[in-house]
Amino acid sequence: MKLRVSGDKLTIASAHMLVKHEKCARIHGHNYFIEVEIEGELNEENMIIDFSEFKSRVSKIIKKYDHKVLIPFNSKNFNIDISDEQVTVSSCDGKVYRFPREDVEFLPLESTTVELLSRFIHDLIKEEYPQFTITVIMSETPTSVAIYTEDK
Ligand SMILES: [Zn+2]
Repeated sequence: MKLRVSGDKLTIASAHMLVKHEKCARIHGHNYFIEVEIEGELNEENMIIDFSEFKSRVSKIIKKYDHKVLIPFNSKNFNIDISDEQVTVSSCDGKVYRFPREDVEFLPLESTTVELLSRFIHDLIKEEYPQFTITVIMSETPTSVAIYTEDK
């Protein structure tokens, strides 16, 4: 059996940029709408998990990335320099961005595509709930959605 949570607590607004992409190489933002499914056995209270507890924990995990510029730290296409509380990001496209350190969240990813973001968020949730099967459904727009679940 599965439960699914979603809603305002599971929505984040973040900025990012890709490289070598006609439109998305320009810095822009998304209201990422995140739904999470949790699948497992019922406990002695006949629940998989308490809805509000699960929603709060997932919200805490993802709100770290809310109202931040998401920078993929493992990208081969960005050169990242951090000094004096400033982050300078130079892209292979020849663009240079400078952000206050506090506005940036680094992710251990090669890129901030919604495919990799959904897998990353999945892995963070899975760390806290290893006994359950977790599926992350992450919408970049209402009609562009990535779904990540682990292989069973
Ligand atoms: Zn985008």
